[in-house]
Amino acid sequence: MRITVIGTGYVGLVTATCLAESGNHVFGIDKDEAKIQILLNNGLPIYEPGLLEMVQKNRREERLKFGTDLEAAIRQTKLVFLAVGTPQSDTGDADLRGIWAVGEAVGRILNKLQAEGDTSKRILIIKSTVPVGTNRELTERMKAMGCTLFEVASNPEFLKEGAAIDDFMKPDRVVVGVRSHETAEILRELYAPFLRTERPFLVMTPESAEMTKYAANAMLATKISFINEMANLCDRLGADINDVRRGMGHDVRIGFQFLFPGAGYGGSCFPKDVRAVMAMGRKMELPLPMVEAVDQVNEAQKQVLPTKIRQHFGDSLAGKFIAIWGLAFKPRTDDIREAPSLVLIESLLAAGCKLRVHDPEALNNVKQIYGDQLIYCDRPYGALEGADALVIVTEWQEFRNPDFEVMRRLMRNSVIFDGRNLYEPRQMESLGFTYYGIGRGRSK
Ligand code: NAD
Repeated sequence: MRITVIGTGYVGLVTATCLAESGNHVFGIDKDEAKIQILLNNGLPIYEPGLLEMVQKNRREERLKFGTDLEAAIRQTKLVFLAVGTPQSDTGDADLRGIWAVGEAVGRILNKLQAEGDTSKRILIIKSTVPVGTNRELTERMKAMGCTLFEVASNPEFLKEGAAIDDFMKPDRVVVGVRSHETAEILRELYAPFLRTERPFLVMTPESAEMTKYAANAMLATKISFINEMANLCDRLGADINDVRRGMGHDVRIGFQFLFPGAGYGGSCFPKDVRAVMAMGRKMELPLPMVEAVDQVNEAQKQVLPTKIRQHFGDSLAGKFIAIWGLAFKPRTDDIREAPSLVLIESLLAAGCKLRVHDPEALNNVKQIYGDQLIYCDRPYGALEGADALVIVTEWQEFRNPDFEVMRRLMRNSVIFDGRNLYEPRQMESLGFTYYGIGRGRSK
């Protein structure tokens, strides 16, 4: 099939590349010329494991093209994916200006093509996460422009940054919201190569598809906030959340996934999607106390590391050298949107600390915010030199088994605040560290 993907960010670029990988001809279109230029120069504007090689391969084989010319792409394609950003607006709901702008641009192009005698129907497929009713409103807006030969489908994306290619190539399920059987069948054919292992292709209304994405993310965020709340209680009561977590997870009704306590969830999805659900509830005048609590607990959780640090150092925090390992909102990505590390950095800078920070992929993104306020270290051990404490915020694989002897030699004070429970408190104490985890029952 011939496909246009509008937006070449984390979702659009992966979508375009994986669709090309399965034999389709795909145009990746973005309004950001700098991004397109990087792609045309055989680079990647983001970090995502395995993506660069796949982009380069599909460009070489001429199935994947990039550009800024939406009209040229739509002339040659029947399927048009919308993968533009839908960030949080000032009022907490999803900012849909990108979706409307694309809808208007596509509408103008469709009208022009129709006037030229092109009578083929286009399917616009919303991949972005959008509030319930967006599909309908986009359809109405385009109809109001005089467009007739189109349908808008909803096809929310469930990929995870850091494992995006695998998630797209082998999804747990594909959800499509359509208004016609014909469109469902076209999408079924498109996704067939990705569902060979009997993964389900779920057809529903656009409204249900839009809601599915939010309900799934709200559920995942709920699990995180729940275990964080239990961890904080463990800290007060002297129980170890890691034992508790294991004791819970063996119950098959509960399971282990997404029950790891930490420094709060971040990223470009959970925070804004939970708030978009809250906004939908407000609009419908329906109280959603559970979802609101998930957000509140998470905001408070981002303060847990700063609080432990303040409690440890007391009045002597100003002027301390603090090392931070991990800035991205999670491992295997360079994405720092809403990352707990940013809350920590703000708090420690305000307290007068000097910060030496390390992250395998996200240093450049953090540098764009903090410039010379921080010391950026390419290597984890480099950040430790003379440090009064180490704070671990992101669980990159390479932080799991460091050389503790070397760490102790490099640090001025052997204090670790482990926001991801990478180490065992007893072992750390026997190695001579003062160690604080999350919910390990040893908090002062
Ligand atoms: P992103 O910000 O990385 O990418 C969006 C891209 O769209 C940018 O490159 C931007 O320049 C481009 N764009 C915006 N307006 C445009 C226009 N008018 N024409 C052409 N290009 C335009 O965002 P993302 O993380 O890829 O997220 C995209 C959507 O997918 C969001 O709705 C998000 O909630 C959803 N989503 C994201 C993830 C994720 O892990 N990032 C997972 C599932 C769903």
